[in-house]
Amino acid sequence: MEESSSTATTESVGLGFNKRRAEGKDKNDGPKKNLQLKVRKLNPVNTISYVQILGTGMDTQDTAPSVLLFFDKQRFIFNAGEGLQRFCTEHKIKLSKIDHIFLSRVCSETAGGLPGLLLTLAAMGDEGMSVNIWGPSDLKYLVNAMKSFIPNAAMVHARSFSDDLFVPIDDEVVKISAVLLRPRYSKVCDDTTKEGSSEFALKPGDVSVVYICELPEIKGKFDPKKAAALGLRPGPKYRELQLGNSVQSDRQDIMVHPSDVLGPSVPGPIVLIVDCPTVSHLHELSFVHSLTPYYSYPSEHSKEMCKKVDCVIHLSPASVTRTSEYQQWMSRFGEAQHVMAGHQPKNVEIPILKSSARIATRLNYLCPQFFPSPGFWSLPQLKSLPLVSKAPSEFSLPSSCEVITAENLLKFCLRPLAQLGLDRSGIPEITSRPKIIEDLISEIPEIVDASEHITQLLHGNSIANGGSTTLQANNATTEEPWLHETALPSCLEGITREDMEIVLLGTGSSQPSKYRNVTSIFINLFSKGSILLDCGEGTLGQLKRRFGIEGADEAVKGLRCIWISHIHADHHTGLARILARRRDLLNGTPHELLLVVGPRQLKTYLDAYQKLEDLDMQFLDCRHTTEASLKNFESSENKDVNGSGCVQNDQKNDSNLFAKGSRMESHWKRPGSPVDASSAFPLLTTLKKILKEAGLEALISFPVVHCPQAYGVVLKAADRNGKKIPGWKIVYSGDTRPCPELVEASRGATVLIHEATFEDGMVEEAIARNHSTTQEAIEVGDSAGAYRIILTHFSQRYPKIPVFDETHMHKTSIAFDMMSVNLADLPMLPRVLPYLKLLFRDEMIVDESEDVNVAAAAI
Ligand SMILES: [Zn+2]
Ligand SMILES: [Zn+2]
Repeated sequence: MEESSSTATTESVGLGFNKRRAEGKDKNDGPKKNLQLKVRKLNPVNTISYVQILGTGMDTQDTAPSVLLFFDKQRFIFNAGEGLQRFCTEHKIKLSKIDHIFLSRVCSETAGGLPGLLLTLAAMGDEGMSVNIWGPSDLKYLVNAMKSFIPNAAMVHARSFSDDLFVPIDDEVVKISAVLLRPRYSKVCDDTTKEGSSEFALKPGDVSVVYICELPEIKGKFDPKKAAALGLRPGPKYRELQLGNSVQSDRQDIMVHPSDVLGPSVPGPIVLIVDCPTVSHLHELSFVHSLTPYYSYPSEHSKEMCKKVDCVIHLSPASVTRTSEYQQWMSRFGEAQHVMAGHQPKNVEIPILKSSARIATRLNYLCPQFFPSPGFWSLPQLKSLPLVSKAPSEFSLPSSCEVITAENLLKFCLRPLAQLGLDRSGIPEITSRPKIIEDLISEIPEIVDASEHITQLLHGNSIANGGSTTLQANNATTEEPWLHETALPSCLEGITREDMEIVLLGTGSSQPSKYRNVTSIFINLFSKGSILLDCGEGTLGQLKRRFGIEGADEAVKGLRCIWISHIHADHHTGLARILARRRDLLNGTPHELLLVVGPRQLKTYLDAYQKLEDLDMQFLDCRHTTEASLKNFESSENKDVNGSGCVQNDQKNDSNLFAKGSRMESHWKRPGSPVDASSAFPLLTTLKKILKEAGLEALISFPVVHCPQAYGVVLKAADRNGKKIPGWKIVYSGDTRPCPELVEASRGATVLIHEATFEDGMVEEAIARNHSTTQEAIEVGDSAGAYRIILTHFSQRYPKIPVFDETHMHKTSIAFDMMSVNLADLPMLPRVLPYLKLLFRDEMIVDESEDVNVAAAAI
């Protein structure tokens, strides 16, 4: 139980940790063998070490980049924003080798990837793994919140500090010190301060940290001639001197000191990682005492006392780094190399996740209607992206200051000493759309015809382009009789391209992978706003990839409601980031709290999380949005009576469905704990209003068979044209086994979005994990008479395209990340499938590699 929240305990843990390390070095203590080992490890000359920018969020600008501090035997990562795990998979950085994660602040921007990371590590190997997490004292709020869905064992190594200067790591390889920065609202007038400059009290999440990483000095060479001249005989005393201890001369009556026989030692490199998030922190940064030894004072005689800093990595945003006060502070480091790693617009067009960008681009070439151009290509291309980034022009620093803009995987080499300095060899080549298309055409020449064929099909047949008459005419000539099987549902009559679009932002299960992010479905209602169904880690980043940087912000601002199916991490760990982004975007403009509808355990998490940062939301339990609950609400709204009956009804429903004795049962259903349904009535009134404004008639949750408090959802649009045309109906299964409630809810659905975690041959696996197979999902849709079925939530075993049997897919499509299905194109959706098979013809293989091992993870 090493986790601690108070300073006192934290300190003792920290000191204990350091002491243990120190004991290994103590020559009077411990077995000789260990000592030998330590001495050998001590020799830093043979070590390879560097700091490297991990560019998570550099292209999407939604999350802080991370910094890797690499040693042969130890790895440290600073910050763990959303997408870090996916980034590491893409760039082959082994998560299992990371020993320590440091947070420069505690908020969704810097720590959004932590929950998913901890769960993945906990599922690794036989025993599971854990990692040391360090951060300012606000870390305790995050840890408390994560306890609602992460096993405590995965977080026992979370430790926080609240002293102004704290040393978490001090061993033979590196010393890492943390310097706390507290904002000064009282002294600095900051426009971005939420409640104005009158605020004095620190809020959680306000403290940021400067990390100082110091490598040990390299001792000078031992000179045997000098030793002999001072009367020493070769032997153990030579070694003592090399270890830094003075010894008695053998032949003379003098003490011999290390400096007498050793050449000049070379100081170890020093790297600073600086996060100064607001101008309010800047004053503290400029005056904090702990940094004084690291400034260079060329003219003063105290020069020898100064520690020379080799590299400063700035995570601070441009709004801070552009100020003259910040630049003055930067110039105090003399000749240090400055790396500006805050968000830079020039990085927006360089996709960090090249593999998924490549697939998105290929899909877009084949079928732009269902796979619109990704956000990073749709911007006007900057013709002259400089290969070598120079100092941003806004810097007016002395010429001795070396300043460059960070790029993904840029390194600053620390050891060996001869290579000290920048290393660009790891920076990936820029991926361009034309190059990806060129490769595709040379690999699959038939794709050119296929693409043209699809364009003709879709242009002739989109309802919005001329309606169902062309559909009929074309059918006669294409000899594909299956299209006749399902007549166009009346709800699609006269539909426009501005009615509704389903954007599959994440289509993988369990953990984010190279090609598929975790679950999130964006229901785009265009001028009427939008709704998110589930919100896995990286949902904001995926929105940015789909709509572009600004488009995604507009989408976030337009959110009417977020609905979460169940408490598994692959469905909601992106929620805090989205809510925080919305809060910041709407700051200063009048707006409503965003309604989050979700399982009860999610409320526990959000309540705890909001002690760290306010998410500007209100919570409605899914169980108050079941059909029975809603009926009860409607009738009580009419009769103005208490609605306790609905809870009875609802609970009965739940208890039939959820397995007894489940581990999580006690969290949500304590015997006799009263559920106050009437307290939900104001929220249900809000929901009703929101739906009306969005042109929707209903949002109904229904219980499914997966884990306690797991739900599916029905979204129904209001009738159109004076009620002559019925509204469309979307059903999303959440994670589930096929069950009668799902079939019942899906009756007559226009689109059923159904999970299909496993291929048909894996029924047993599907039963064991409470998921569905492809065929089971299709059967649910068929028996419910759904017009179209979209399969999603694929096991990460299927890296690019899942295994499926085409013969049963006449009304079905499989989902890909970023696939966007406009209601107007719905009739043609299944016809695209054979072409997708062509695109992936060489890649329909199962990936059994270790990094997609999901054995122990809850999905
Ligand atoms: Zn899942
Ligand atoms: Zn699940």
